[in-house]
Amino acid sequence: MLTSAKWRDGQTLPLPPGERVGVRGMRGGASWDWLRPAFSVFARLLERFSPSPRPSPRGGEGDSGGVGTVTLVGAGPGDPDLLTVAAVKALAAAEVVLYDALVGDGILDLAHPGAERICVGKRSGRHSLPQGEINALIAFHAQRGKRVVRLKGGDPMVFGRAGEEIEHLDGLGIPVRIIPGITAALGCAASTGLSLTKRGVSRAVTFVTAHGRDGERFEPDWARLADPQGTLAIYMGREQARAVGQGLTGAGLPAKTPVLAVENGCRHDERRYWTTLGEMAEQGVAAGKGPTLLLVGEALRPRHAVNEMVGTADSVDLRALGDLAQRFDHD
Ligand code: SAH
Repeated sequence: MLTSAKWRDGQTLPLPPGERVGVRGMRGGASWDWLRPAFSVFARLLERFSPSPRPSPRGGEGDSGGVGTVTLVGAGPGDPDLLTVAAVKALAAAEVVLYDALVGDGILDLAHPGAERICVGKRSGRHSLPQGEINALIAFHAQRGKRVVRLKGGDPMVFGRAGEEIEHLDGLGIPVRIIPGITAALGCAASTGLSLTKRGVSRAVTFVTAHGRDGERFEPDWARLADPQGTLAIYMGREQARAVGQGLTGAGLPAKTPVLAVENGCRHDERRYWTTLGEMAEQGVAAGKGPTLLLVGEALRPRHAVNEMVGTADSVDLRALGDLAQRFDHD
């Protein structure tokens, strides 16, 4: 008979006092064995949906105790509703959160109230920290034994420099876990209601950045990208919009190919700008300063009702997420 359920990290979740299956006067009887499988399913569900309340594997600051952990968390495109349950749990348990400028405030609100929040992205006129410093900062907090969340816009593995952070942490023997997020292309497809693939129209989706490495010229292989039966999702493309239009039409895509630029996708201030490759080659796109994704291809022909936003980004009702953060003690 079960007398307790195990939480993920070996802690015990006691059952109601005095009883083995929580039913007064029924203990031990073989006739109640039928309850056992039902309870064990319940216990497993509890384990699955409870945050792992492991004590921080450390002593205090400057303590030479065990190393902490790092979780790279995808924050999605901006709407807190689009976070994964795993992301919400990791935030609720975090002791230190290092976040990018693209991460919305509503998402940071989900971090444990006692968590130290450190912006490493461009904000209020400051430049973002160089990647080497970000790597060092993550490692520093993990080596203090902290549960560190590195929160990144969209998905950490898509143009998020996650590879460099993982490599750095691997080199120091710091455990790292990745929680995926909804990348901008998929968020924008959903919010605009436009499928990136379409039978007979588009059979491939390419995620590409229009951003060269620091100081490098942006010169992709246009012929390879100019697939008339494909959709391009171009990240960091606003500044290069004219070059993109010229490159793709130069490589043979028709000038009338639709282009949709989505600024602040999945946020309450999302804006959409429709143009064509030909027009973009001449004028660029008129999007503002928010993060902007360029979607190019025949699949992007506007729907009639496309300007109707359904289920816009809003604040998450924290009650719906339970009191996860309260279950973690930060000392
Ligand atoms: N890891 C992120 C991408 C980071 S690169 C992801 O998976 O989405 C930053 C670029 O992503 C921006 O320049 C923009 O092109 C795009 N982007 C990120 N968030 C966006 C949003 N909410 N709306 C439109 N584009 C976005």
